[in-house]
Amino acid sequence: MTHDCSFLEDLPLATDRISVADGRRESHATDYGAERIDDGGVLPDAVVWPACTADVSAVVAAATDRGVPVTPYAAGTGLEGNAVPAHGGISLDLTRMDGVVDYRPADRQIDVGPGIIGSDVDEYVAGDGLFFPPLPSSGDISTIGGMIATDASGMQTVRYGEVADWVLGLEAVLADGTVIETGSRASKTSSGYNLTDLIVGSEGTLAVVTEATLELAGRPEQVRGGRAIFETLDDAVEAVFDAVRTGVGVAKIELVDGLSATMANAYLGSDLPDAPMVFLEFHANHGIETEIDLCRMIFEDHAVGRFEMSDDDAEMAALWQARRELAYAISAYDPDLEPIHPGDVTVPISSYPEIVRETKRLADEYDLLVPCFGHAGDGNLHYSVLADPDDPEQRTRGEDLYREIVALAIELGGTATGEHGIGAGKQRFLEPEHGAGAVEAMRAVKRALDPTDTLNPGKIFPETADGERLTEAER
Ligand SMILES: Cc1cc2nc3c(=O)[nH]c(=O)nc-3n(C[C@H](O)[C@H](O)[C@H](O)COP(=O)(O)OP(=O)(O)OC[C@H]3O[C@@H](n4cnc5c(N)ncnc54)[C@H](O)[C@@H]3O)c2cc1C
Repeated sequence: MTHDCSFLEDLPLATDRISVADGRRESHATDYGAERIDDGGVLPDAVVWPACTADVSAVVAAATDRGVPVTPYAAGTGLEGNAVPAHGGISLDLTRMDGVVDYRPADRQIDVGPGIIGSDVDEYVAGDGLFFPPLPSSGDISTIGGMIATDASGMQTVRYGEVADWVLGLEAVLADGTVIETGSRASKTSSGYNLTDLIVGSEGTLAVVTEATLELAGRPEQVRGGRAIFETLDDAVEAVFDAVRTGVGVAKIELVDGLSATMANAYLGSDLPDAPMVFLEFHANHGIETEIDLCRMIFEDHAVGRFEMSDDDAEMAALWQARRELAYAISAYDPDLEPIHPGDVTVPISSYPEIVRETKRLADEYDLLVPCFGHAGDGNLHYSVLADPDDPEQRTRGEDLYREIVALAIELGGTATGEHGIGAGKQRFLEPEHGAGAVEAMRAVKRALDPTDTLNPGKIFPETADGERLTEAER
């Protein structure tokens, strides 16, 4: 369905901020995850790059009046087709609202536009010994607005928490164009409903974030990292569970299985051992060796083969690069195989060994390659089921395997998505995870804030009769 967006020309926007060119529309009809999702997005009718909150408000209000969908778009690194329009309309690209609005180092706070790249925030505040801890692995290619909208998290979440924990307040535009401010600059508040947390993780379906007040942390005095190499994957995941349960002061504790290591080596030309590994980083202001020794002792209880800490910055950078680039390494491994969209189930830490074990058992049973890695300390497992896209039987087998793992994660009290969001790719898991009542409560929130279903329609909720975009008559 196409939408008449000629009304944009009557809004007070600079002309270079609107495009209906095919190339622009095509680049905004995809993201990192969309191509793997069968019922992916459709071309937006127009792309708009607002320069300020007033632009966002004017576009959204006018679109709502005319029944035109608006889908916020940032860096497009989402892995569930989150930013890809499901119903056309306007792709609202926030990447030009990328400034620092105010910086208060004494309060460890910064106000930023949503389009700023995550690592640019770190760079901006580094001189004061500060950093933004919950950056995802994609922190140098994705925006703060996208991270807020998906409640992203990353390798340091095991110690510092997820993005939601570091957002103090937001400026956001509602579907009718109203500009609201949520939260405060205080480090805590009990005042009214927590609208900040409601908008965080809402994937652009409730409001467009136009400014964010972020909390920052002081950089630790001591940082050391390294890797532990195990003989069996079982030993590696039991060791992670034990370390987290004991409260070892790790800031990163990442699992890389032998198959992922093989793929990383093929992609990067690295020489990681083809064995289950745990990559580690410790942060402390004093006594870091005590934490490292405690971790080493725990890992020794789980038959760790080698426990290697490094003081060589280049060596550590190479290690973390290998971890960060695993998604690309897996995609590039075999030209005849494609990953069925990336799994990011998360379970209580005590169930982590079970979900990893079961994933590997299912890989054997279904006779498919399934590299496993992830933010193990949070109970987060990334798994990629590789299947031949031209072999429908193999693809169906892969989909079944993928779903079985999600079903198990939910059964274990976990979630279908620890960090990537529901988007268009995980809608079928929303109700199994939350139950019909909770999903209806979510729909009620959506209807209250966006009664005309303007903002990112077709995401999060399965498109049942209930969840379809409202028709004009229904409005
Ligand atoms: C190699 C790789 C590694 C990754 N690693 C991680 C990881 O470790 N942890 C993790 O959490 N994710 C990870 N991701 C996923 C992705 O990077 C995150 O979801 C990221 O937060 C998306 O940011 P973005 O700027 O690309 O947003 P987009 O993908 O453009 O948009 C994501 C969602 O946010 C909405 N949105 C964007 N801006 C706004 C706004 N201003 N207001 C309201 N809604 C908005 C969009 O509508 C969409 O629903 C990874 C992706 C890749 C490709």
